[in-house]
Amino acid sequence: MPTVDIAWVIFLVLALFFCVVLHEFGHALAAQKYGIQTKDIVLYPIGGVARLEKLPDDPKQELWVAIAGPLVNIVIFIGLSILLSFQGFEVEALEKINIGPDTFLLYLASANLILAIFNLIPAFPMDGGRILRAFLAIKLPRAKATAIAGGIGQFLAIFFIFFGLFNNPVLVLIGIFIFLGAGAEVSHTQQESMLKGFKVKDAMMMKFQIIAFDAPLQKAVEKLLNSQATHFVVVKDDVAVGTLSRNEIIKGLKEFGNQGKIEQVANMEPFKLETEEDLNEAWRNMLTRKTKVAFVIENGHFLGILDQENISEFILVKKAMGPTLSH
Ligand SMILES: [Zn+2]
Repeated sequence: MPTVDIAWVIFLVLALFFCVVLHEFGHALAAQKYGIQTKDIVLYPIGGVARLEKLPDDPKQELWVAIAGPLVNIVIFIGLSILLSFQGFEVEALEKINIGPDTFLLYLASANLILAIFNLIPAFPMDGGRILRAFLAIKLPRAKATAIAGGIGQFLAIFFIFFGLFNNPVLVLIGIFIFLGAGAEVSHTQQESMLKGFKVKDAMMMKFQIIAFDAPLQKAVEKLLNSQATHFVVVKDDVAVGTLSRNEIIKGLKEFGNQGKIEQVANMEPFKLETEEDLNEAWRNMLTRKTKVAFVIENGHFLGILDQENISEFILVKKAMGPTLSH
């Protein structure tokens, strides 16, 4: 009977987690070399994500940022392998699933190799997908490169799902994860390329529904039900002072009832964008802030609003018009 020493298992899991963190630091450091900061590093049970404030525009830079993570695991693997070769080891020990002081390094080395290989699968959202896209983007436009890399990723994902169905359910999950990730990356990049060259003023809305700051929530509910609008501009003495979204109305109703005041639930410090700001950047900022609607300002004056739906509509229109009519 193989004996499993729980303390060593925990120790191995912690060490592996540490290697995942180092992997993410690899991405972050490479990005920093190109002047791109990392917002945070999020750790999931199956790995981590270093969230960069943006992606490098130069495909060669993206290549290095993507490769840096798996490279860290490969370096750890090589380092541990050299150590092990001095120590002497038996690969057969892996089959016995006996994690202890004699086999710890062997397991850690193998796990790093698996981590590197897994991340190099050429499919989004794995690093391999980004590496593939970066290679393609050296010769092709970014959106086209992403579409091809995404297609290859989804093809691989379907293969994983089918293969997993007959062999290993974990592969099915990985396949679904990759399939969705690849799709999201492709549509995200498509949207980015559609917005390229446009400014906030191109997509902003100058017609919107207003609501007084001191009106009861009941009023907002009526407006919500009687119009297409999903959010409103809150005004005080004819000046726009905040935004009110459908979610805020519903949340407010639960908390204060329909006689609650608009200003109690509205966002009175709305996110502000300048008319001349790059539309792509504005959209990205709204996504990271989870802001559905923002004020558009020109020379310090409120001019209109920009909401995420506007931007989606804008993209749809651009798509329908085709590439010749857009910028
Ligand atoms: Zn990575």
